[in-house]
Amino acid sequence: MNGYFDHNATTPLHPAARESWLRASEKHWHNPSSLYRDAGLASQQLESARERLRSLIGAEAERIVFTSGATESNNALFATLPPDAVVLISSIEHPSVREAARRRNVVEIPVNADGLVDPDAVKVLISTKRPALVSLMAANNESGALQPWREIAAICRENGVLFHTDAVQWLGKLDSSHLGECDYITGSAHKFGGTKGCGFLVLPREDSRLGFIRGGPQETGRRAGTENYPAIEAMVTSLETITSQLGKVQSRLRDDFIASMRTHFDPLRVISESAPRLWNTVLMVMPAHDNLKWLTRLSRRGFSISTGSACSSGREGSSVVVTALGASAEELKRVVRISSGWDTTAEEWQALAAAFAEVHEELIRGGRPL
Ligand code: PMP
Repeated sequence: MNGYFDHNATTPLHPAARESWLRASEKHWHNPSSLYRDAGLASQQLESARERLRSLIGAEAERIVFTSGATESNNALFATLPPDAVVLISSIEHPSVREAARRRNVVEIPVNADGLVDPDAVKVLISTKRPALVSLMAANNESGALQPWREIAAICRENGVLFHTDAVQWLGKLDSSHLGECDYITGSAHKFGGTKGCGFLVLPREDSRLGFIRGGPQETGRRAGTENYPAIEAMVTSLETITSQLGKVQSRLRDDFIASMRTHFDPLRVISESAPRLWNTVLMVMPAHDNLKWLTRLSRRGFSISTGSACSSGREGSSVVVTALGASAEELKRVVRISSGWDTTAEEWQALAAAFAEVHEELIRGGRPL
């Protein structure tokens, strides 16, 4: 029984990624910038990984820059904009977008009651604020709500505005082949079975020479530093493997879990319930008890869940999404997030619902274990 329900925070290393990381580390550990034959082979492998990523996300290989992860990618993107640039960002972006954008002239795009950005509201803000860039995540890390990023990418294109999507939670969970329609794309390997410390940033065609980490000429001068080829190979292999198996994942397991929870808990508020959501994610406001109580007691039973997103102190803090939806401080303390993996079974989902019911019994008896 696997009780890990925090895949939106990080995922275990995929066996295919592990194997390709080992092979790359043993065979192609040479510096891809060196001039001898073995280094040339490492460089060829690196370029072939870039090409394979191109075919998965539909963005030209020349636009892809490998980075240390999504936080670096999001910071790099905002660092390259002029200080007085007006940027529209949604009110539910990850802290690595919100904090990095803070140094620019930020206008927030609100979300509706379903936790979704309204394309018409973006149109109005584009015509009144004349932004240089619009940034909207593809899928929300807390609620799983799928944002209308393709529609907004098209609106931005029509208006000559650059569009960025943080696709960290979308990649590996849904078809990513249209992401290349966005000018900038952020991805992070450890969210889909790759290693920590590896990711990418896709840049628009016209500023593909922009250098955001200065030093050597790696990544055509855009991001200096010896490329982590084994991690890049593992990232691309994992994304390929997971993408080829996406037909097997089912949102029915998540919906059955919610139905079981409702037999025990009333009312149970599921955030963005009527919106299209990731098949693996449930963000709930529990009817009673602090989320840390739920978390610790479920953890003792072998289940790992989360209380929302990461806050600036690096610990789990209150939910950005539930805050954006105008919840009270008291409600915020009852928020829990469940995020399953690619192999999570119906039995594991149902065991989690049963564990919630058991913890509830325990808590109403004054916290004494059953
Ligand atoms: N964006 C989103 C939507 C995320 O969920 C995360 C990870 N929680 C990040 C960015 C940051 O990713 P990393 O920690 O790999 O830099």
